[in-house]
Amino acid sequence: MRFWGVRGSIAAPGPATARYGGNTSSIEVRCGGRLFLLDAGTGMRYLGNRLAAEGPLDADLFLTHTHFDHVCGLPFFKPFFQPQNAFRLWAGHLEGGLTLHRVLREFMMAPLFPVPPEVFRARIEYRDFRAGETLTPGSGIVVRTAPLNHPNGATGYRIEYGGKAVCYVTDTEHVPGSPDRNVLGLIAGADVVIYDCMYTDEEHAQLYKGWGHSTWQEGVRLCRAAGAKKLVVFHHDPDHDDDRLDAIGREVASELPDAVLAREGMVLEA
Ligand SMILES: [Zn+2]
Ligand SMILES: [Zn+2]
Repeated sequence: MRFWGVRGSIAAPGPATARYGGNTSSIEVRCGGRLFLLDAGTGMRYLGNRLAAEGPLDADLFLTHTHFDHVCGLPFFKPFFQPQNAFRLWAGHLEGGLTLHRVLREFMMAPLFPVPPEVFRARIEYRDFRAGETLTPGSGIVVRTAPLNHPNGATGYRIEYGGKAVCYVTDTEHVPGSPDRNVLGLIAGADVVIYDCMYTDEEHAQLYKGWGHSTWQEGVRLCRAAGAKKLVVFHHDPDHDDDRLDAIGREVASELPDAVLAREGMVLEA
């Protein structure tokens, strides 16, 4: 997997965030000859520029949810404008009759945006499901899902292939002292867990209860409790600059030596 955007809530470019990167959530996953995209934040534009030169693409995009920072790269993803490509867009958090297609149409609507999703020339299928369902995108790959604790809902994913499991769990808020059973079940024994570590426990307790995000300390606790091997600290607070993230990284390493902080351009193998 390659990380194209690791920042939470809003893009945060600039010299103070250049080392970890300022783009919002976008991850490329390759397994079993397949291409999976996780979320569609601003990092997705760079991924698209790379993929646009690759020839016909057939890929699945799994969206955790449709908050701006996870979809605002969609209209700028060049492969959507290439007719030889096919994409399936998955979302499991929508309720009350909302569909992903409708939400994207309303997101890409004048005067908020000049053109609707119908300008895309690739073949695009919208696949709504309910978080908790298991998806089988083919090639012997199983994608388990679970609902997350986030305003307007969000979906956690676990991609299983060849005896390995990679989990993508953002955006989600924990309740201090009571580990989220949905998350524990999803990440049990996983090789890699990419987790919403936007805040520290101290920041969460003092400032950000109810904002829908978790902490690196909770990521450590969950990975330990679930027997997961590698924590990837993800969805960095836009106000955490590189020096702050270095300091957080040292604390994380003292708890879990195998853990890493996500940074743009990072490549991980499960
Ligand atoms: Zn987010
Ligand atoms: Zn969100």
